[in-house]
Amino acid sequence: MIPRVRRITAVCAMGAALTACGAAGGVRQAPARPTVSASPAASRPPVLAPGPGGLTPVFDHGPRTRGRTLALTFDADMTADQGPRAAAGEHFDNPGLIRALRALKVPATIFMTGRWADEYPAEARSLGHDPQFEVANHSYSHYAYTEKCYGLPALDPGEMREDVEKAYASLRNAGVPHALPYFRFPGGCYDQRALRALSGAGVTAVQWDVVSGDAFATDADAVTRQVLEGVKPGSVVAMHCTRSAAPTTEKVVRAVVPELRKRGYRFVKVSELIGETGKHR
Ligand SMILES: [Zn+2]
Repeated sequence: MIPRVRRITAVCAMGAALTACGAAGGVRQAPARPTVSASPAASRPPVLAPGPGGLTPVFDHGPRTRGRTLALTFDADMTADQGPRAAAGEHFDNPGLIRALRALKVPATIFMTGRWADEYPAEARSLGHDPQFEVANHSYSHYAYTEKCYGLPALDPGEMREDVEKAYASLRNAGVPHALPYFRFPGGCYDQRALRALSGAGVTAVQWDVVSGDAFATDADAVTRQVLEGVKPGSVVAMHCTRSAAPTTEKVVRAVVPELRKRGYRFVKVSELIGETGKHR
């Protein structure tokens, strides 16, 4: 599991070179879905209290003893320099995955890079207007917030908050009206310096406790097994939505969702898990 986790995380970082999360095909606007209740998080999402000295708080899973809830999260990666690859036809989005989540009525949290929202504004908008989803921040550039992070170009501490704010601006410009104050570090890489740099941005950093292994995977069954073996009550599962870099994810979702429901799990968004901690404000 550990080496695998390392590999996957590395992959996520390389997802610098790939990942993305797609929404509904094209320009379709998401209708309100009566079967999915609007998230109360849309107006006042719960955030964790800052750490000592105002340090950005970090959330990686919900309570283990509050029932079988878990959150699927999908990173919409695209690095600031991948525009030419998108222009050449590489798909950093995954509309089929989003269609599957909608068909299965699975609430989910999408960590979207600003660069991705620039590339796929209609999809970003569709996700941002669909109460089944919450859209959060995965940086603008998908560059590293630590000095070493799987070969990603590194930001200086003085650039970090600006990168986060720039992502929120891109999400707004794309038409995401209520991006959540949750931030996922590119590659999951952070340190005290990064947490300090973002103090004052008002975000809760969101990590995960289950690595799906979907990035660069070719064996959907192996990814499915890894998710099913890894989840516990309160888990946050890290996945991607990009056709080019995580081609099995839709299939994995179609397999794990019914199985986990059979085991008594209920899918929620990250905001609900944070709200269950009792440590939020
Ligand atoms: Zn990422």
